[in-house]
Amino acid sequence: MGRRQTMMEKYKIQMKAYRKKRMKNDSTPYLPLDGIVYVINSLDPGKKIQTQVVKTTIRSQRKIIETLACPECKNEMLWDDNWEAFICTKHGKKAIYELVLK
Ligand SMILES: [Zn+2]
Repeated sequence: MGRRQTMMEKYKIQMKAYRKKRMKNDSTPYLPLDGIVYVINSLDPGKKIQTQVVKTTIRSQRKIIETLACPECKNEMLWDDNWEAFICTKHGKKAIYELVLK
């Protein structure tokens, strides 16, 4: 029983460290100095589209992009950590917009 508790505790500590690491690895993009952001549609790549930054926040003393206007329907898109892109679900089928450098 005592052994089991130790394992459980070990597991909890590992999970805590893992979560901390994940937070540190937050991939939310930083706002470029000039504030101009381009995206490409991951499902229909090709042309770069300039889009509007709607909301920013300060994290770790750097400005990050919280929401971006969808280049197609102007809906506010949130960052998705799994896709590492901004996702819009408001204009018919789901669109995945990746940030690109100029
Ligand atoms: Zn949209």
